Amino acid sequence: MNRRHDPPARPGRLFPLLLALALAAPAAQAWSRQGHELVAELAEADLSPAARDAVRDLLSDEPVPTLAAIAAWADDIRAEGGALGEASKHWHYVNIPGSACDYVPARDCPDGDCIIGAIARQRAILADAGQPRRARTDALKFLVHLVGDAHQPMHAGYPHDRGGNDYQIQYRGKGAPEGEGTNLHRVWDYWLLRSANLDTPTYAARLRRLALPEAPTPDPEHPARDWALESCRLIHAEGLYPSDHDIGDDYLDRHRPLAERRIRLAGARLAALLNEVLDPAR
Ligand SMILES: [Zn+2]
Repeated sequence: MNRRHDPPARPGRLFPLLLALALAAPAAQAWSRQGHELVAELAEADLSPAARDAVRDLLSDEPVPTLAAIAAWADDIRAEGGALGEASKHWHYVNIPGSACDYVPARDCPDGDCIIGAIARQRAILADAGQPRRARTDALKFLVHLVGDAHQPMHAGYPHDRGGNDYQIQYRGKGAPEGEGTNLHRVWDYWLLRSANLDTPTYAARLRRLALPEAPTPDPEHPARDWALESCRLIHAEGLYPSDHDIGDDYLDRHRPLAERRIRLAGARLAALLNEVLDPAR
């Protein structure tokens, strides 16, 4: 499009355009914006009154002080390329070689620079009332995002294809743009949820009605490690790699329930974490 002759965009016209572009192009390497919003909405509904007050207080400088509104912040700052986005770029995932999910911290999370280390550190900052308020607000925003990412199986995937980012896929379903290639990571981040065709409040209400999936209780000392290893084991156990690189709507329909169960579980675990940290007397 030749933009030179366009009239200057007024804010009232530009904003919906920018919003549409943002929604059309969710960042790679994370549940899509909607996935993170769903986790956050589910968690927010399960906060204790004191934890909800603490969240409101920590987010009081945000334009919209809800967990859903800040759920994609950690991806946004990475896309913007500032210092914090750069420092946190490895915090969204862990890669573990082999299908046995044999996690070796020194190999898979050196210096704690992966999702497992990041969740532990941000949790400690949020729990420490002596930390600067800004650091605790950022810790809350990281946790809301990263607990979601830890439950996306491809965020605990193989290093050789960067969690499915290098596993090319042709999606030929009815919602697919003609001929556009994608990859397995993005199918899990985006297409599985997108193809349900629901707006976030409707989808969140539907997921809230799902029974909480059964899952082993994580080690209280290392919950993020156990969440990520659960994700990792699902890749092999549930056969998430398609037998060829072409998928259709049958792949999405078969695996969408798993993605939804992971979101449901992430929401419940995020709420439990925030209640524990922000409302310890409860
Ligand atoms: Zn992410």
